Amino acid sequence: MRQNKAKFGFVFDRGLLKEEELGFRVFDPPKGAPPFSDLRCLFKDGRWQEPQITTEETLTAHKTAGCYHYGHEWFESLAAHMAKDGRCLLFRPKDHAARNRRSSEILLMEVVPESLFLEMVREVVLNNSPYLPRYGTGGRLYIRANLLGVNRQLGLGESFEYLLVIFAYPVGNYYPTGLQSMKLYCSPRYDRVAERGTGQAKAGGNYLTSYPAKKLAKTKGCGEYLYLDTATRKRVLETGSANFFGLRADRTFITPGEMETEVLRSITNLSLQTIARKLMGFKVEKRPLYLKELFSKGRHRFMEAAICGTAARLTPVNAILYENFYGRHPRLAHFPDVNKTTGPWCHELYDHLVAIQHGDEEDRWGWTEEVRL
Ligand code: PLP
Repeated sequence: MRQNKAKFGFVFDRGLLKEEELGFRVFDPPKGAPPFSDLRCLFKDGRWQEPQITTEETLTAHKTAGCYHYGHEWFESLAAHMAKDGRCLLFRPKDHAARNRRSSEILLMEVVPESLFLEMVREVVLNNSPYLPRYGTGGRLYIRANLLGVNRQLGLGESFEYLLVIFAYPVGNYYPTGLQSMKLYCSPRYDRVAERGTGQAKAGGNYLTSYPAKKLAKTKGCGEYLYLDTATRKRVLETGSANFFGLRADRTFITPGEMETEVLRSITNLSLQTIARKLMGFKVEKRPLYLKELFSKGRHRFMEAAICGTAARLTPVNAILYENFYGRHPRLAHFPDVNKTTGPWCHELYDHLVAIQHGDEEDRWGWTEEVRL
């Protein structure tokens, strides 16, 4: 199945592309560089077929396919990083496999066997290895998996044929501002998912209100929209594409908890919780986090806050602007230790995370997996 035996990072070594120019976007291969390729695997007649490599950029499915009409699809994203010695390290691929199993179970889609997912991810990384950004540049290879219900069907019903597509692009920062802090906008105006809905699946449908919500946040001078729970509109949940956590003055890391069915279980967040507890001596609380707590004073004051995810990594939050449904009665929760860039605790969390991902710090918990060329 292997397509490319070129050295990791050679597109960058040869100056065909510069890591500083990456950002978070799709682009054509530069002149002199190999094409990007993906792997596709069809589930048909009750079994997974042999994965195929392709440089084709478009997907074809019947016009009545469930993925087009009813959003019968999930996606998953993970990243590969270059170590100082040139090795390529995937970050927590098995946890991503477990999460896409969860997405399939929630959405009644075919479960992708862990071994198939992991094999395809490794293969895609190898085939696109020239595009692995070099160590020390802030770049990484971002890998996307997408499972689509593709059989013909007019009515609303479970799909029985699926296409699994896995592809990769080199990326830099998700937000052009990088580790610069941002302000979040919070309001009961938009909900992400229903309380007993599909929030724990990484389903495309969960991202739809992010379009108007983020637009509204931007008009208020904020970088992202922070959702509240749909039952009481009193608990903060997450943003459109990242989990939220706050760091309290008494060294407590608090994040909307596992029991919140509206929140995606972020693997970055889980990693930061472990780092906070084991390496920084924080107490970690995964529980309902009430908006009013973010306005507390004294010992229970929140000194720092951030959003986190594979794409966003850790993006510090300096304040949350809250307004009611009608966009009135603004209140501002300000996190005093976050300056223009980031606060000291978030900095430490970020440094540990990135050091583990790039193999600079001991991988105590077996989070990285080497992809050998
Ligand atoms: N929350 C949402 C809604 C997301 O889309 C993502 C990104 O995948 C995350 C959280 C962060 O999850 P992870 O850290 O596993 O990438």
